[in-house]
Amino acid sequence: MSDKTSSRPRGAIAIMTSGGDAPGMNACLRGCVRTALEANYRVFAIYEGYQGLIAGNIGELKWDNVANIIHLGGTVIGTARSSEFRERSGRLQAAYNLLKHQIDKLVVIGGDGSLSGAEALREEFPGLVDELAAAGRIPPETARKFRNLSVAGAIGSIDNDMIDSEVTIGADSALHRIVEALDAITSTAYSHQRTFIIEVMGRNCGHLALMAALASGASGCFIPEAPPEEDWADQLQKNILDGAAAGRRVNLIIVAEGARDRKNNKLDARIIKDALAERSIDSRITILGHVQRGGVPSAYDRCMSTLFGMEAFNILARGGDTSSIACLQQNRITATGLTSAVAKTRAAGQALAAGDHQTAAMARGDEWLRMVNIQKTLMRISPPGEEPGKKRPRIGVVTAGRAAAGVNSAVRTIIRMGMASGAEVLCIEEGPVGLLENKMHLAHWMEPELWNAFGGSRLGAGRYTPRRGDMARIAANFRQWQLDGLILIGDWGGYRLMNKLLSSKRYHKEFNIPMIAIPASINNDLPGSEYSIGCDTALNNIVDAVDKIRNSTDTAKRTYVVEVMGRYSGYLACCAALASGAEYCYTPEKPVSLDDLRHDVQELTAAFRLENRHTGLIIRNENAHKDYTTNFIASLFEAEGGSEFDVRKAVLGPLQQGGVPSPIDRIQAVRFGYFAVRNLAEAIAMGIRGSYFIGCEKGELFMQKWENLHKYPDPWQHFGGKRWWQDYEKAIHKLAINPQVRQKYPKG
Ligand code: ADP
Repeated sequence: MSDKTSSRPRGAIAIMTSGGDAPGMNACLRGCVRTALEANYRVFAIYEGYQGLIAGNIGELKWDNVANIIHLGGTVIGTARSSEFRERSGRLQAAYNLLKHQIDKLVVIGGDGSLSGAEALREEFPGLVDELAAAGRIPPETARKFRNLSVAGAIGSIDNDMIDSEVTIGADSALHRIVEALDAITSTAYSHQRTFIIEVMGRNCGHLALMAALASGASGCFIPEAPPEEDWADQLQKNILDGAAAGRRVNLIIVAEGARDRKNNKLDARIIKDALAERSIDSRITILGHVQRGGVPSAYDRCMSTLFGMEAFNILARGGDTSSIACLQQNRITATGLTSAVAKTRAAGQALAAGDHQTAAMARGDEWLRMVNIQKTLMRISPPGEEPGKKRPRIGVVTAGRAAAGVNSAVRTIIRMGMASGAEVLCIEEGPVGLLENKMHLAHWMEPELWNAFGGSRLGAGRYTPRRGDMARIAANFRQWQLDGLILIGDWGGYRLMNKLLSSKRYHKEFNIPMIAIPASINNDLPGSEYSIGCDTALNNIVDAVDKIRNSTDTAKRTYVVEVMGRYSGYLACCAALASGAEYCYTPEKPVSLDDLRHDVQELTAAFRLENRHTGLIIRNENAHKDYTTNFIASLFEAEGGSEFDVRKAVLGPLQQGGVPSPIDRIQAVRFGYFAVRNLAEAIAMGIRGSYFIGCEKGELFMQKWENLHKYPDPWQHFGGKRWWQDYEKAIHKLAINPQVRQKYPKG
């Protein structure tokens, strides 16, 4: 369809990807391009990074040019490194090519190098314009009108190394690749009782290595920000030998590519292997290399990159004469100064190069440092020495409700960090049934060694809510085991169990101990927490299934209606729709009316008629509407879509729940588990007997009294307030249907 707009364009922007490619760059490109077209800008792609900018490899983009790319890895507009652009002469030619198309707004998706390049061009631009005008290469009017270049960045870097942003485009997908590889290596290593040294990317930043170690349960981790002790090789040897004696069959040693020792000498897989060989330990090396950069973007990367792309355009649209980048702070998309962000990132790199790892580590923040220390404890083969004569508190851990992926990492952390704090950890098997039937045992350190990669709950969970008559038996079991505190990990079923225990306090003093609940539900519907363990795995399962469903279309024009879980929370539906470029998303929070459906089917039919499109996608939460069911919607679109498309429906069902936990779920589970066990140990030590739930707001964990749970929006009160992700819901439809079609079908 023609992209001629009724009014004159408001300006022209160019967008490029540069430096190392990263999965999610295409989603970012789509988000940025379509937001700019919506705002009536002309949009140009610069192909092959700065090299293409100097060569004049620039072409206008229309709505359709960024269709069907959200799920692709790499970058469809190409990227390159350019030494010419580092010279003023190269940038002069770059400025000339931009001015030829009357472009004075530039979006760069790239790492700190690419963003520095953009800043250099912006700073010099007025001078370059003067020079081009003086040489007669551009008309004086162009020189007058386009004197300044505005620059916005989106951080494309699998290394997650930008200090001012909690995440960068591609880092989560790279972690997916690494963790998949580590899971695969684990099974062969287990069979042969082998030690593997795995080198991962990350340049100057240890993020990928650290997170991969936490997610996989590695027994060694070398990162630039925390160099090992001088006798690291002896310590590693001891850890491997003691581990073997304790029954450990797998040793994964993760090395970041920028790792160094305390004398600032490079440490790599070969050096570690040789050091182990000198100590009679055989090991194998796997260098993951470019596998980490490639492949499909994860669901998280698709969502975040889309939002980063939109924000990058918004930065330019807001105006101002300094350059900014789209970033994530406190789990919210925002903008920050490009120069200062790059300067801080560079300073961390320079500190490392100079052997000052502490400055680099501090720059990564407190939470990151905490994770470094947690990893150090988790990879031990036994708890640190006990204090003789000190009474050991006993902490129970139970998983209840429907088990969500990642729960095992939480339990593993609770067992090890609990034991490391001097406590005994009592594992309650089979959830509520285990409480009732006294199926419990004291954990030993090596028990959860390889649990991270398993879905479900290794302890066993269950949705049984004990009856009043059961409580005396449960109390007797608490008494027999002399429990001092309890951590419950669960969904609504688990939270109901917690309620039951607490409401029985006045009859059974055994329940008068501190208790802490950790949210774990694929639906992400528990009050008080923006995140619950398992929802990221479910989201990836959905997005993966939708990719397959969409790819099943050959020549037919087809619309898919996909029903996803979520109970009364639209979180999964909304994020899945954003990540897969769906046209419509129906959630319980915003009940769809018949008028809405009528509008949507007319609009989609027009989109098929006017655009060159082959598929349409509707994501519907399982409880989006009592009467407008998935069947109803599929029949309606089939009947009203006429000859433009046919309709298939897919109810994804339990596949959303199963599977190997995603890196995010494993890492967050470690955070939640540690937070719970640390607070519980403190409460026990201080004689506090309250009950609490853990929540997560703007990325921060907090603990709240259980009595306050009802103050937070919950699904049955219809949320009583806006959920954080609802801000992003608007983007779904806006990015999927051409504004010219939308203008013809204004929403009533
Ligand atoms: P990344 O963007 O992934 O960090 P690089 O550091 O290789 O990748 O940078 C990509 C490109 O950005 C370089 O090839 C170069 O053209 C340009 N660039 C990087 N730094 C500068 C700079 N200081 N001045 C001008 N251009 C730069």
